[in-house]
Amino acid sequence: MLVRFWGTRGSLPVAPHADVALTKVVRALMIARGRSFADEAEATEFARTDLAFSTYATYGGATSCVEIEGGEDAFVVCDMGSGLREFGVGALRRCAEGHPRVYHFFLSHLHWDHIMGFPFFQPAQESGATIVIHTGHPDAEQALRRQQEAISFPAPFDALKARIEFVVHQPGQRFLAAGMQVSLIRQTHARGSFGYRFEREGKVVVYSTDAEHPPGDMDAEGAFETFFTGADLVICDTMYSLGEAVSLKQDQGHSSNVVAVDLCHAAGAKRLALFHHEPSYTDEDIERMHAETLRYEQLVRGERTKLEVVCAYDGLEVAV
Ligand SMILES: [Zn+2]
Ligand SMILES: [Zn+2]
Repeated sequence: MLVRFWGTRGSLPVAPHADVALTKVVRALMIARGRSFADEAEATEFARTDLAFSTYATYGGATSCVEIEGGEDAFVVCDMGSGLREFGVGALRRCAEGHPRVYHFFLSHLHWDHIMGFPFFQPAQESGATIVIHTGHPDAEQALRRQQEAISFPAPFDALKARIEFVVHQPGQRFLAAGMQVSLIRQTHARGSFGYRFEREGKVVVYSTDAEHPPGDMDAEGAFETFFTGADLVICDTMYSLGEAVSLKQDQGHSSNVVAVDLCHAAGAKRLALFHHEPSYTDEDIERMHAETLRYEQLVRGERTKLEVVCAYDGLEVAV
């Protein structure tokens, strides 16, 4: 499987102001002082090896949308945040090259940042396309229709030409979709959210965003450890650092980097992707949180095998 991140920001899409780019360029120029580069390839190599990620790149600002490549004759996509628009543009190109026009979506929940990309999803306007929307919320169709009502959007849901089907699943139920074994778990969040576990050919990817793990709830903790068991990659809501999660943001329906590491360790997961970044965080803030998480993982690892911790950004691809 190949996991492709199209949107990794939580709550609200963000874009950097002009001075953010200027700061990055100035910082890079200062570090490169006295150096010369024969061509762009050499300069790119220098940027990747000698500069911090937050200097030469950005984590991006599109909201939740993650593609899992490796399904059977279909696209597999978790959530429809603003990152979905760009996924759709690429999907049309891939379909022109022969990819089947079948899309399986898995919705964590119906908050706006997780569905706002759908009105801009171009493949939904193709009469030959099939869209299957998997959800744990019986009112998912209502939510998608409502955001395209005339008061909010110029083109109604009913004008979409693709065949669109909603499939409501129960937590704990296992089902087959696009050649993958899928199961879902109910999560603590305003109006509830669902995490998904995808299995195919011995590989496991878990998508678990917008989930709070209240301290002391041992039953829930055990259920998540089971759900994450042996995962090759867990994509986890780590909107806050532990300090914030405990002191300021308790009961806001999100998780922390520390809780994510603890759950992954207990579950024997191999890799964790930090996800659903707080919209007010700068690239430097996110990078700092990633570094803190790496230190924490090392500190509490003990005899366990190392949990690899990656920090998701718009454009990241992880081979599983
Ligand atoms: Zn969210
Ligand atoms: Zn939410």
